[in-house]
Amino acid sequence: LFSKVEELPRDPILGLTEAFVADKTPHRVNLGVGVYQDENGKVPLLACVKLAEEAMLAKAAPHTYVPIDGYAHYNAAVAKMVFAESCDLANVVTVQALGGTGALKLGAEMVKVATPNAKVWISDPSWENHRALFAAAGFAVETYPYYGADGELDFSGLIATLEKIPAGDVVLLHACCHNPTGLDLSQDQWRQIAKVVRARGLTPFLDTAYMGFAEGLETDAFSVRLFASDGGPLFVSFSFSKSLSLYGERVGALSVLTANPQERSRVLSQIKRIARITYSSPAGHGAAAAAAVLADPALRRQWDEELGAMRARIKKMRQLLADKLAERVPGRDFTYIVRQNGMFSYSRLTKPQAVLLREKYAVYALDSGRICVAALNEKNIDYVAESIAKVMVE
Ligand code: PMP
Repeated sequence: LFSKVEELPRDPILGLTEAFVADKTPHRVNLGVGVYQDENGKVPLLACVKLAEEAMLAKAAPHTYVPIDGYAHYNAAVAKMVFAESCDLANVVTVQALGGTGALKLGAEMVKVATPNAKVWISDPSWENHRALFAAAGFAVETYPYYGADGELDFSGLIATLEKIPAGDVVLLHACCHNPTGLDLSQDQWRQIAKVVRARGLTPFLDTAYMGFAEGLETDAFSVRLFASDGGPLFVSFSFSKSLSLYGERVGALSVLTANPQERSRVLSQIKRIARITYSSPAGHGAAAAAAVLADPALRRQWDEELGAMRARIKKMRQLLADKLAERVPGRDFTYIVRQNGMFSYSRLTKPQAVLLREKYAVYALDSGRICVAALNEKNIDYVAESIAKVMVE
């Protein structure tokens, strides 16, 4: 039966982690991962989550099924947080999903129902899973320019391509903290994009996996709310994996802004069918904890503080890395590291430099040069800066 089954290549990021685990160099550093780590290199358990979980445990509720579309109070709380007053929530479908990936999958299948012949346009480069996920849902996936040859955002290339995309196609945009480049659009650039997208009748799909990591929850919601404020249509995938440090609990949501409550009801029925045949109903624990954090003013304040501390630590590491590299590689500008947002930085390391960094210095970055800034800390940053500087001048 399986004699003709082809072996697929390893996932490049997971493959890098496997190589890192096998590496016995004592000072090795893994900058390939996509998780936030604290100053001790540990994935944090947020206090707000711990308190919510303790209260849940004390209640000892049975583990019955969650509704197909998730907990209603969770969905309502997510919709309110993401959209605020930007649109009429009576027209928004929000469905609990298995993380941001699960939200993207529900969204991709819903797009397929609504507009099966559309193409899907993603940024060049984008999170690797975007292409694979939309291709698996049966779409032709194209790219629009994003990362310029000079290491900065290619905004004119982006707009010029959007202006040529046929009406009805889907444009996937990173709401904030672009993965992998860390290059974000300014509010003015978002306005220009929204204008072109709407004028050409394209369907925006905003992937929101890092809300709160650029400037804060409110500011980071700008792009989503901008697109929502003209009434849609709009798809938004959302993840709590990073912002509540709930990676393994798979807590996310898909929202779709429709034209009216009748449309909303039809779209919801379709998304429920997709969920039903894919996993029947989502997981309960993480979403219940997230909903409890959003519902309780004290826990919500605590979350704001903890999210703020994660954001501030990342920004501090960006500044330190840029300063330390500038000291070691005179005449070269590293301010781009500070201007980028979120967990990742396109470090401008070339592929041979990334390979050398790994093989000679045991510092693991992706071949693209992407590094996870959230994996840096006061203990490893000197070694990382020293090693990057060496491979850049070698
Ligand atoms: N979108 C982007 C841009 C991401 O970087 C990630 C996670 N790395 C996701 C979606 C998926 O999020 P989750 O882990 O919650 O499935």
